[in-house]
Amino acid sequence: MTIFASADFDGHEAVHAFYDRATGLQGFVALHSTALGPAFGGCRMWAYDSEDAALGDALRLSRGMSYKNALAELPYGGGKAVIMADGRRVRSPALFEAFGRVVDSLGGRYITAEDVGTSVEDMRVVARMTAHVSGIATGADGGVGGDPSPKTAYGVLQGMRAAVEMAFGRDGLDGLTVAVQGVGHVGFHLCRLLHEAGAHLVVADVAAENTARAAEAFGARIVAPDAILAEDADVLAPCALGGVLDAKSIPELKASVIAGAANNQLATDDDGRRLLERGIVYAPDYAINAGGIIAVAAEHEGETDSAAVHARIGRIYARTMAILERARAEGRPPHEVADIMARERMQLAPQAELVREAVLSDTH
Ligand code: NAD
Repeated sequence: MTIFASADFDGHEAVHAFYDRATGLQGFVALHSTALGPAFGGCRMWAYDSEDAALGDALRLSRGMSYKNALAELPYGGGKAVIMADGRRVRSPALFEAFGRVVDSLGGRYITAEDVGTSVEDMRVVARMTAHVSGIATGADGGVGGDPSPKTAYGVLQGMRAAVEMAFGRDGLDGLTVAVQGVGHVGFHLCRLLHEAGAHLVVADVAAENTARAAEAFGARIVAPDAILAEDADVLAPCALGGVLDAKSIPELKASVIAGAANNQLATDDDGRRLLERGIVYAPDYAINAGGIIAVAAEHEGETDSAAVHARIGRIYARTMAILERARAEGRPPHEVADIMARERMQLAPQAELVREAVLSDTH
């Protein structure tokens, strides 16, 4: 196992390996950057095949959080924890208490929250051991913080509105058809918001009960999971897995806009360019799926005004518009512009120049 020579190492400030003898808890906390504030990012629990896979995930995800937090104008850096365990088999309060002690030992340099494989309930157990945890609040309509998925969905809707305006020159989603891949936590909330906005829905999920729920609640049309990407729709919203936009899927897309919640939708950087060449407007994933982190950050800061948090998430519309306008003006794929803007905010100007040079040498 290597860290500094790993392809995923990106000048991370620290990587902590942790182990708890009593519960068998093991994993990593990666702190990518604390330049803008404490490293804020969720805790993933996953049955990794190897230590290398877990470490690689922690390195990539923590870097991603630096970019997401910077672009969302949050006063936080990027970090992420990964617990190496199958959450369906190994799940106990003692394990999450042990994880809480790990977080506490970092003295506030890392703030945790839920992620894939961990829940609000798990984070409440973590909170017995440390104050450096968020995403645990309760309140009417979710209140401030708590479960991030409805907030993420609201942010995605704002990013989608901007991308639709850019692609079709129209305000609002009324009458458009939106294909939603994955109607889990975020996907289902997004379907509700789209339905309220007057959009027609086409959905797919590997879990039939999830699509059935969306069909019943919102009149969504169900298609097979392998058909959703090429579905005849105005907008495609990937809300399941990463890496779905690649050399094979992009030529088959019919949607003019892509705006969804899934992290790392582009399989490679080249795929962002492929979308640009096809004239498809891509709303960068981490720019528009920041609603959840904006809300849990507000909860951590003691914000109690949910309207103010709603408004903060609403700024994703203007932020996405700024990215798309700059991308169009400079003839670049929007994901590259989002990266450059995030790096500018992290004051990583020299690297931003390098990115630009790389981009320019790519195009000539
Ligand atoms: P989730 O697990 O609740 O939902 C994902 C859904 O996708 C599930 O219903 C699953 O059955 C379905 N799915 C899996 N493989 C599929 C396939 N091949 N085709 C169709 N459907 C498939 O997860 P979630 O919390 O809704 O998150 C969705 C995505 O958004 C993830 O990529 C996640 O990383 C990202 N994200 C979530 C949040 C959040 O607040 N939950 C925040 C930022 C980003």
